[in-house]
Amino acid sequence: MTILVLGGAGYIGSHTVYELIENGIDTVVADNLETGHIEAVHPKARFYKGDISNELFLDNVFNKEKIDTIIHFAAYSIVGESMKNPLKYYDNNLCKTKALLETMIKHNIKNIVFSSTAAVYGEPESVPIYENDKLQPSNPYGETKLAIEKMFKWADTAYALRYVSLRYFNAAGAHISGNIGEFHNPETHLIPIVLQTACGKREYISVFGDDYDTKDGTCIRDYIHVSDLAKAHISAVKYLKAGNESNIFNLGNGTGFSVKEVIQTAEKITKQHIPYKIEQRRYGDPAKLIASSEKAKKILNWQPKYDTLDGIISTAWNWHKNHKNGYN
Ligand code: UDP
Repeated sequence: MTILVLGGAGYIGSHTVYELIENGIDTVVADNLETGHIEAVHPKARFYKGDISNELFLDNVFNKEKIDTIIHFAAYSIVGESMKNPLKYYDNNLCKTKALLETMIKHNIKNIVFSSTAAVYGEPESVPIYENDKLQPSNPYGETKLAIEKMFKWADTAYALRYVSLRYFNAAGAHISGNIGEFHNPETHLIPIVLQTACGKREYISVFGDDYDTKDGTCIRDYIHVSDLAKAHISAVKYLKAGNESNIFNLGNGTGFSVKEVIQTAEKITKQHIPYKIEQRRYGDPAKLIASSEKAKKILNWQPKYDTLDGIISTAWNWHKNHKNGYN
């Protein structure tokens, strides 16, 4: 079995490639390296540099490799940027995935695991959030991911393309080896920013609002370790290989932590004081996002290993303290 990982040089993609290889699965990575890092690609993966919308590029990969299933991470994922430049997101995420599907169908590749997001739910009416809850994205990033899920559904009906869509809550942490971790440029995510502050790379962290209807007024999120997400992709590949129907799963720990709790936990782990300033709310941030992952636990037989915030932040710190400038 050979798996093609699109976007395998990115944060969650590179951790999934490590997990695949650690499980003895033959792995091919394609990435245009626009936001990914070649240093993050596992040395045992066969790497192709190119874009998923380039038919000739994918023809070459599919002709050289006997690809069984695709895991698709290749996308832009910065919510704020998607608000400022929605068409960039529609083009890169939706249009390029449509081009990918055309090439897959041409090569008779019918299984895909897709990187989706809790952003498809928008501001939830209640937590925990279930897969059947209302889908009302509050930003173009979430809209493009939802549009792709719907495109998959119709492609399943028309071409028997089978997919598993994995809706991640807040991915965090780093591989246990300390070789790969989270590095975006610019960085917008809470945990890396908190740890960069602990490293002295930033003076303080801006907390976006402390007037939410939550226990301490700051936003609550469900942080899930990137290696646990990676494991879910392997379960999803096996699920599709076993001939099961297309499906959608939430992936989270089911526990919510506020921004202030994240900062306090990071202070404990790094043994550093981490200064913060309360600032304006960030547009489009829901107050509380917590997953129900019961469906993934039951059907994919998935069980997150890192079930404490301490454990997740410890692995992230192990990466950050040794990679102050990321992969540079
Ligand atoms: N956040 C913050 N300051 C930052 C970055 C994030 O207060 O510099 C907050 C953000 O408002 C949200 C939470 O931290 O409530 C997690 O944000 P992140 O961007 O990591 O993930 P998101 O939930 O937006 O996917």
